[in-house]
Amino acid sequence: MSSPVDIKQNCILDSQDWTFPVPIAYGPGRLREIGTHCQRLKITNPLIVTDRGSKNLPFISLLGEHLRKASIQPQLFYGISPNPRDDEIEAGCIAFRTGKHDAIIAIGGGSAMDGGKAIGMSVDSGFDLWDFEYNKPLPEVGAGRRFPVFITIPTTAGTGAETESTAMVTDVGKGMKFCLAHPGMRPALALLDPELTVGLPSNMTAWTGVDALTHAIEAYLVQSFHPLCDGAALEGLALISKWLPIAVKEPENLAARGGMLVGSCLAGVAFLKGLGFVHAISHMIGAEYDTQHGLTNAIVLPVVLRFNLPGMEDKVKRMGDAMGLKNPSVEAFIIEIEHLLDEVGIPKSLGEIGVPADCVQRISEKAILDSAAETNPRTATIEQVRTLTETAILRAR
Ligand SMILES: [Zn+2]
Repeated sequence: MSSPVDIKQNCILDSQDWTFPVPIAYGPGRLREIGTHCQRLKITNPLIVTDRGSKNLPFISLLGEHLRKASIQPQLFYGISPNPRDDEIEAGCIAFRTGKHDAIIAIGGGSAMDGGKAIGMSVDSGFDLWDFEYNKPLPEVGAGRRFPVFITIPTTAGTGAETESTAMVTDVGKGMKFCLAHPGMRPALALLDPELTVGLPSNMTAWTGVDALTHAIEAYLVQSFHPLCDGAALEGLALISKWLPIAVKEPENLAARGGMLVGSCLAGVAFLKGLGFVHAISHMIGAEYDTQHGLTNAIVLPVVLRFNLPGMEDKVKRMGDAMGLKNPSVEAFIIEIEHLLDEVGIPKSLGEIGVPADCVQRISEKAILDSAAETNPRTATIEQVRTLTETAILRAR
């Protein structure tokens, strides 16, 4: 396996197009600026998209208040579940068309932001939702068609969904999650206000935080030349490993909340490079058993690291540096990650969160086809994916 240095030497003469991230407004209390941003972006009639669980949370009414102060009367669509489904996206499209909206403001966790993106992709582009599947040719949205202006406001830290134009959506008929993407759905603004994450319960703080941790690690391990993403991954890892345990223990600590929000945003930027088998397996478990995404990833993470990391000592060293570890071995690095997972209360197996052992073959066959599997740093046979899945279900650590 090539070391990162080899990759840079091999790729430094290749052409690269770097087009990210997006305009970001970061800082405590900045939600109050949303009206000004809407006016700047010529938004007059936005549809607010959130998930069912967030419908009655204070940030929804706060967002509405700030918009009304700017003479904008928003409507709310809250029909998105933790793993967004295609039938929910269709319901969101109907709400958008009925209200003749000109923009989408997605506020909440990753499911709200993914739901908002998926609605935006299919509502007025002239294409079906599944035409935007990541591996298909990019739909060319013709004259008279458009993507609505799109703003993201994450209230967890996080899925990192706020800067990207990709969305995971479950095809209910197939029982599989698919990655949808189109550069036209890139947010015009990501508004990062750590005050909005202060009320997040400690279990959700932990679960969304370990998702961000997984993004930073999986993205950094992808074997392609992308120094911008790699830098974001390492800085994200540094912030997350420092602030996650504090944010879980001290929910009111605004510095910890801010560190996590920026860290998860950087990790989200990093995974433009791709992800790996943690996400590939987790996507399919989530699609079938509706398990929480970050929690599922966190349980699978050490299992996949034990498979991927041997031979990647250079990358392990740089990740260890970011976490303040002195030249860790592969095993020492994984043990440190396991300590972090223990510290924030992550269970030790998927079995403990209700995933049965008899799904191994089915989940493995689906996972190996997931778009995240393509960028895993090590190729795997179906038998190897079976072993990873089975280990994660029975006893991951
Ligand atoms: Zn994730």
